[in-house]
Amino acid sequence: MLDIASLAALLEQPKRIVITTHHKPDGDALGSSLGLYNYLIQRGHHAKVITPTDYPQYFDWMPGNEEVIIYTDTVEQSNQLIAEAQLIFCLDFNALGRINEMGEQVQNSSAYKIMIDHHLEPQDFDDYRYWNINACATAQLVYDFIATELNDKALVNKDVATCLYTGIMTDSGSFRLPNTTAAVHRVVADLIDAGAVNWRIHELVYDSATENRLRFLGHCLANKLVVLQEFNTAYISVTEEELKKYDINTGDTEGIVNYALSISGIKLAAFMVQRKDKVKLSLRSRGEFPANEICKKYFNGGGHRNAAGGASDDTLENVIAQFKALLPNYKTLLIQ
Ligand code: 5GP
Ligand code: MN
Repeated sequence: MLDIASLAALLEQPKRIVITTHHKPDGDALGSSLGLYNYLIQRGHHAKVITPTDYPQYFDWMPGNEEVIIYTDTVEQSNQLIAEAQLIFCLDFNALGRINEMGEQVQNSSAYKIMIDHHLEPQDFDDYRYWNINACATAQLVYDFIATELNDKALVNKDVATCLYTGIMTDSGSFRLPNTTAAVHRVVADLIDAGAVNWRIHELVYDSATENRLRFLGHCLANKLVVLQEFNTAYISVTEEELKKYDINTGDTEGIVNYALSISGIKLAAFMVQRKDKVKLSLRSRGEFPANEICKKYFNGGGHRNAAGGASDDTLENVIAQFKALLPNYKTLLIQ
């Protein structure tokens, strides 16, 4: 393991650095990665952000986005960068399975691996770990890593601040989830001082829907929402045909599950969508209810207690049936 002094010493000289994050990157995955990228390039490092898969177009305005490469589109180049890297920053994930085929490349690289993350149960593949499950976002940890661990607050410029603000804003549910502490607001105040234009970032991320996406949301709410009062549970399921009909792209289904959770009294909400090769599940819950336990136990996934995900190779119909069948096991928790 490295300690912070050795890591700081390594960063004194320009290094070949790869920054990566989980597949299907969300605002925190990209925001923390690009925030760190915009910091490292100021220090003269040769840094590259590689995402395992593509990401929604409503994040493509972020500073440094034009320099990001997507692994599935650039396998050879990415493999070479990973193999030749001296440092690999792994942000917003803590198990190599979360970066798909890239995991093996990262594992085999002789680079020092630095994990910055806020998910439960980290896997041991790293040489330095900046990890805290109480952080509302990895972007919050990246801010602390730069400002406190590396004592480099002066290098949190407008670009860094903009990216980190985006990560914190998206992972904290726009500053309304229980993990939005006073400390988070202090970090956010620093980021605004450093040049993040908060209202504009909200607009770029949340007010950038296509007409199709809005109509698709309408369809989900009017025709696909199922409420199981007996279990304080609501779910929405979507077929591949429906995705096609509304021309739904990566990221367009993001957040729909939250509408199901917004019904008064609902403790557990699920969004299940048939993708090409598998059914993807997104679960959200309130309070003590462990959405991550369900994902881990039944759907090959995991996550946070109140926001988790998983997948299944079964048909959508069977996944819905499986989901409904497991609810009685959790009835006491769901109705209390
Ligand atoms: P989402 O529903 O937005 O896809 O995922 C919500 C959260 O669940 C993510 O922030 C991530 O932490 C976690 N998550 C989603 N899918 C998986 C998965 O397949 N495995 C694990 N371990 N966590 C997941
Ligand atoms: Mn995160």
